[in-house]
Order: sequence, then C-alpha cells, then structure tokens
Amino acid sequence: MFVVFRCRRCGRYLYARKDAKSRICAKCGFKNDLRKVVIVAKADDERIAGEIVRKLQGCGTEFKSLG
Ligand SMILES: [Zn+2]
Repeated sequence: MFVVFRCRRCGRYLYARKDAKSRICAKCGFKNDLRKVVIVAKADDERIAGEIVRKLQGCGTEFKSLG
C-alpha cells in the first residue's frame, strides 16, 4: 500500500510506502514525517500512486502553501 500526501513545507504532492517513516520532498528537500502528513489518497502499488500524484499535481509548477 502507498499513500499520497502533500509536502508540509511546499505543498508538492508526494507518495511513499504506507509503512515508511518519512519521505524527503523531491522539490524542497523537506523531510516529511508520515505520521504528521495529511493523506489525500491511497494506492495499491507504486505505479498507481505515481499516477495519482501526476493528476493531483496537474501541469502547474506553483503550489499553494498549506498555511
Ligand atoms: Zn516540499
């Protein structure tokens, strides 16, 4: 199982294994604690998780802060 969430610093969508402890953001390098992030979607495998991220991310390059 994979989880899709947003980087807590820059808002980029990321995915990680559900049992992982943390995930480094590919955009800003922030180490996201997976116990603290808000899960926006779940996927059975990595390929699907990647597709969800692409859909959520859209084609824009600017991300709103989570505030
Ligand atoms: Zn980030």
